Order: sequence, then C-alpha cells, then structure tokens
Amino acid sequence: MNIHEYQAKALLRTYGAPVSDGRVVLKAEDAKTAAGELDGPLWVVKAQIHAGGRGKGSFKEADAGEKGGVRLAKSVEEAAEEAKKMLGRTLVTHQSGAAGKQVNRIYIEDGSDIERELYLALLVDRQTSRVSFVCSTEGGMDIEEVAAATPEKILSFSVDPATGYQAYHGRRIAFSLGLEGAQVKECVKLMGILYKAFIEKDMEQLEINPLIVMPGGKLKVLDAKVGFDSNAVYRHPDVAELRDETEEDPKELEASKYDLNYIALDGEIGCMVNGAGLAMATMDIIKLYGAEPANFLDVGGGATKEKVTEAFKIITSDPQVKGILVNIFGGIMRCDVIAEGVVAAVKEVGLKVPLVVRLEGTNVEAGKEIINTSGLDVIAADNLSDGAEKIVKAVKG
Ligand code: ADP
Ligand code: MG
Repeated sequence: MNIHEYQAKALLRTYGAPVSDGRVVLKAEDAKTAAGELDGPLWVVKAQIHAGGRGKGSFKEADAGEKGGVRLAKSVEEAAEEAKKMLGRTLVTHQSGAAGKQVNRIYIEDGSDIERELYLALLVDRQTSRVSFVCSTEGGMDIEEVAAATPEKILSFSVDPATGYQAYHGRRIAFSLGLEGAQVKECVKLMGILYKAFIEKDMEQLEINPLIVMPGGKLKVLDAKVGFDSNAVYRHPDVAELRDETEEDPKELEASKYDLNYIALDGEIGCMVNGAGLAMATMDIIKLYGAEPANFLDVGGGATKEKVTEAFKIITSDPQVKGILVNIFGGIMRCDVIAEGVVAAVKEVGLKVPLVVRLEGTNVEAGKEIINTSGLDVIAADNLSDGAEKIVKAVKG
C-alpha cells in the first residue's frame, strides 16, 4: 500500500526526521490560505500522486501550464495560482503509465536552498531476506538510470536483524555520501530514525530522493516515497487511514473487497485460476503461445459462486481483455462451483470475447455438465497447454 509524499513526510516528522513545513490542499479555493501560512520567500507546489518523476512529468491538459508537477513560486499568489492550474489535471510521469494520474491533492511546502541532492532508500531485499539501505551521491535523478550507467556510485548493504541498526551503518552511509564533521553524526541519527520508522510501521519501501545537503551543511528529507506491506496494514490503523483509494486501479480495488488476489497487467488474455502457482504457470504458458496475460487472478481455494462471479465480472470489465482463459484444478475448490460462477457471471454481464475453460479435479464431470448445458459459447480444453493454445488462437487467429 502506497501513500502520498505529504503523508510520508508527516509520518517521518513524528519520528524526528527533518522535513519542511507544508500544507496539503484539496480544493483550489484553499490554496491561498495554505500558502499564506508558510514563511516564504520560496514556495514549492507539488502534485500529490502515487508515482515518482513528477518534476520531469508533464500535464495532458494545456491549461495546466508548461511546467511539470513540482513548481517553484516566489509569492503566496503565485503558489496559489500554480496549485489551481494543477488541481484536477492529469499528470503523466515515467512511473504513472501513459494514461497518467489525476491530481486531486497538492502539497505546498517551504522552498529549501539546495547544495547537494543525495539518494537514500530502505527496502526489503528478497535475496538476503533483510532490510537494506541503498544510497548514492547521485540524488534527484532516476536511480534506475544511475544503476545502469554508473553502478559504482550506488552503495547497498543489508542490516542484520539480530543487531538491528547500528551507528556504523550510518557512518558507512555518511562516508559514502561524502559527508563530513557534524554531518556524519546527523546522518547516523537520521538513518536510525528512518530504520526505526521502517521496521515499526512494516514498510516495504522508503525512498528519499532527494535527501539534500543545505548550504549550512544540514540534511533534509525533500521527497519521500513510502510503501507498506499490505499484509501488515491491519496492525496499523493509523497507516490504514492514509489509504487513498482514488490512486488505486479500480479493478484491483474491487477485487480486494471480495478478497481476490488480483493484479492488473497489460496483456489481452484475462485469466481466472485457482492457486497462485497455477496462476503463474497459466501466465507463463499464455506467453509461450505468443500472447500476454491481462491479469493475475487467484480466486483461492474456498471460493464461493459469488466470489467467482465477481472475479469474472472484474475480468470482463477490462476493455483490454480480448479473450478469457478459465483454468481450474479442483482440489479444495470444486469444479462445479467454478462452472456455476462462470455461468452466472456471463448471464449477468454477457460475453463479448472468446472463453476457453479447462476444468480438472474434484467434481469435474458436474462442472463440465453445467458449462455444456448452459447454452454458453464456451471452448472446452483438455489440459493446460491445450487451453492456452486455444485461447491464443481464438484471440489472435
Ligand atoms: P519527483 O521525484 O516526483 O520529481 P521531488 O519531490 O523529488 O519530486 O521534486 C523534484 C525536484 O524538485 C527535487 O529533486 C528538487 O530539486 C526540487 N524540489 C522539491 N521539493 C523542493 C523544496 N521543498 N525546495 C526546493 N526544491 C525542491
Ligand atoms: Mg523525487
């Protein structure tokens, strides 16, 4: 689960991290009051969307102005003006996808003098199963580009959970970032703060790009991108409250209400499968036959007819879906329940694309019977590769 920059900064502030003073604005008419509460002489007006690269992004609408999603202003009036231009418009960045994201919230914060921009991140490293620090002197840039062009400029190491964060971790980061004197101590403290927040709040990612050095030498968190482990959010009601559903894929949001494991993807074949492993295999084999999956969907072991119906509706609501492959291995899940769900869903929402169904396992005969007598235009498949081949052929000809 991701949150906005202003929420991340407010959270980090409670742990004692240095962040600028700022105000969030939801309505254009509040922009001036918000900007007026800040000291100036420089205001920074920042579009709040769950995607990075806002500064270098661009708006779809001409009336949003030529500039990106992070704008400098020299007066309260100018700050309010820029906020108004961005609110309600669609910002496209290299992380937002081509469709972009509508800007519904603006953060106006105090402008900072910047001497150097650094990169810092904490993340869960799946290779070592530990929390890792990643840092670089090349802040303010796309870290993937730095990693590709100059990997030697990135330092990454993991923290042993048995010891937790230690001062030498912070010193290692400070030296690699070229910090000196009192800055080293400040860095050691700040890294400790970030590590504590990361662990306590079950974060998955905490990226500060840039972490800046100001002319006096002090450090400041200038941007903050925070993602939480969704499976742990139930332990943090304060974090759950920060969820902004308007930022999420509507199909994924709907799926989460029915406790379906659904991830939207870019391809054309909708998949309904039981079991994460089988779902992965199904996606692989669709690719093998030359098409791309439109989603990952595991309906789970004990899915009811209602759940299957909802799952099918979510798949068919995706205009990208040009064909559907239902691939069920009935173990705990019964094939007849799946068949009933599919039939009920098709009756409710109609079927405009080819549908291939492969059923195997518990109550398979009853399941096939339900499909066969339903009058639906279903292509039956005998096994996984047969199913994949048939749906790709039906879609691609
Ligand atoms: P994004 O990463 O989405 O582009 P950032 O918050 O990193 O957004 O802002 C982009 C750039 O804008 C920063 O690298 C920094 O140079 C500048 N910037 C952002 N916030 C401020 C601020 N409060 N004061 C001065 N400059 C800022
Ligand atoms: Mg940034």
